[in-house]
Formats: sequence, C-alpha cells, structure tokens
Amino acid sequence: MDIRCRFCGEPIDTDEFHNGTDSWRELINQFKKFGCPVAELAIQGMSADEVKLEVKQRCQHRPCVSEQQLDAINILTHLNGDDIDGLAANLDDTCWM
Ligand SMILES: [Zn+2]
Repeated sequence: MDIRCRFCGEPIDTDEFHNGTDSWRELINQFKKFGCPVAELAIQGMSADEVKLEVKQRCQHRPCVSEQQLDAINILTHLNGDDIDGLAANLDDTCWM
C-alpha cells in the first residue's frame, strides 16, 4: 500500500515505516509533514525520535507528478487525517497517468 510525498509525489510503501521501531504512526505523521527525508531515514531503521532530530527541512526533490496531482495528494493527505489506509486507498483510486 503506497502513500505519496506531498512535495514531490514519490510513492512510498507504508510497510517501509514498519522498521522495527515502535513508532510507525509517528513516522507516518512526520512523513506527512516533511515528505521524503523522513521515509529515507525510516527505511534505514531510524525511530521517530531520531528522525525528529535529523529532519529539519521538507522534501526538496523535483516533483515526479503534475502540479494538479500534487494538489490532489495534498488535499487527500489532509482530508484523511490519521486514516492511513483511507489515504492509501484514495491515492490508489486517483488516476496517475
Ligand atoms: Zn518527496
């Protein structure tokens, strides 16, 4: 199940945040705030507390989707709140072609 960085549109499998630390939900919340930098550190096995100290800047990657699609990601990310499954399902339903 993928969710997407709201700054560049990069898809990330939510399983990547199950990294052996106990902070899955907190990592997702930080991902929603800062995007890719959080995912990159979570994949390396950092906990949410470690990520919080490390990440000071939001994702700076060049967007891999259109501006409209980024808007859709942003809106869906806000609308779904803490419902990660709902967010992934809504993003999945959105046309990415
Ligand atoms: Zn990104």
